[in-house]
Amino acid sequence: MKILVTGGAGFIGSAVVRHIIGHTQDSVVNLDKLTYAGNLESLLSVADDARYAFEQVDICDRAALDRVFAEHQPDAVMHLAAESHVDRSIDGPAAFIETNIVGTYTLLEATRQYWSQLDDVRKAAFRFHHISTDEVYGDLEGTDDLFTETTSYSPSSPYSASKASSDHLVRAWQRTYGLPTLVTNCSNNYGPYHFPEKLIPLMILNALDGKALPVYGNGMQIRDWLYVEDHARALYKVVTEGEVGETYNIGGHNEKANIEVVQTICALLEELVPTKPEGVAHYQDLITYVTDRPGHDVRYAIDASKIAAELGWKPEETFESGIRKTVEWYLNNEAWWSRVLDGSYSGERLGQA
Ligand code: NAD
Repeated sequence: MKILVTGGAGFIGSAVVRHIIGHTQDSVVNLDKLTYAGNLESLLSVADDARYAFEQVDICDRAALDRVFAEHQPDAVMHLAAESHVDRSIDGPAAFIETNIVGTYTLLEATRQYWSQLDDVRKAAFRFHHISTDEVYGDLEGTDDLFTETTSYSPSSPYSASKASSDHLVRAWQRTYGLPTLVTNCSNNYGPYHFPEKLIPLMILNALDGKALPVYGNGMQIRDWLYVEDHARALYKVVTEGEVGETYNIGGHNEKANIEVVQTICALLEELVPTKPEGVAHYQDLITYVTDRPGHDVRYAIDASKIAAELGWKPEETFESGIRKTVEWYLNNEAWWSRVLDGSYSGERLGQA
């Protein structure tokens, strides 16, 4: 099978590409615009593989998408390309509307045209898998409530509203045109190659540098943490074994308050890097509470029983094992993150070289 992965230079997309090349016989075409979040240095381990190809393309560019479909003739699309950072969506929503909504629409139309011309066998086997977020469901009120595949949508931020919109488009293309689509909604991912603007890598790298560890509000926002490699395995299962038209929620069964996450990172660093930056007695002392994000959802938690029952997937990592692996990865991969921090990683320049 040849899989067109959009956003394959991003955090989750690169884990998906590494999973497919490393653990299956399938081929990948990585289609990515290489925004600030795209980093080809996350793909060095697969870049020379004969089953891997890269196309620097914007999903809003219909002509370029048509060329890629015609040239590569994929059997499936895994759509991960998106603007993904909530804070950025509050500061500047336009790019989120453009990429997440207009881009998904453009990709759906390019896919539909390509798919409609396939022979009957390839047409029936074709899949369009849209990767979305649990943030489309909004806030969970009760402490025992969980998001299921039928929870109604109630997005709170420009980011989650744009993702909700794209989910609706994908389902409409299935109902209206018969495009064989699947949708997955997952909880917060963490793990290697995570861009340092997100909570976990930001805290690790700030702590190592003796900088403040900024925690929003009271730090009691609860997220269900999913190790990115567990997620990549789940996504591959869905695209290869999932039922057309279905939605699968993917979660890690790891509900943690943000402050607990930060405290766990501090405790791991105390153990792994006991020699601290000058003036820092304990990493925990660096924690500072900052003004909460507007519209900040308090709790997300996923009921992942459907994907477990129907596709036999469950996460391999607990939060304790995954966060330890993650901290160790950052300690061992300064070459990757130092080039992100100083801006020299520029995926764009690498892509054009
Ligand atoms: P990311 O920001 O790390 O990566 C996004 C990738 O998309 C980048 O490589 C970027 O260059 C590319 N991209 C952006 N705009 C593009 C465009 N117009 N055309 C082509 N490529 C473009 O994001 P991520 O964390 O890897 O998330 C991947 C997907 O998973 C997103 O759709 C996101 O909404 C969803 N998701 C993420 C999380 C999470 O915790 N990270 C949780 C739930 C869902």
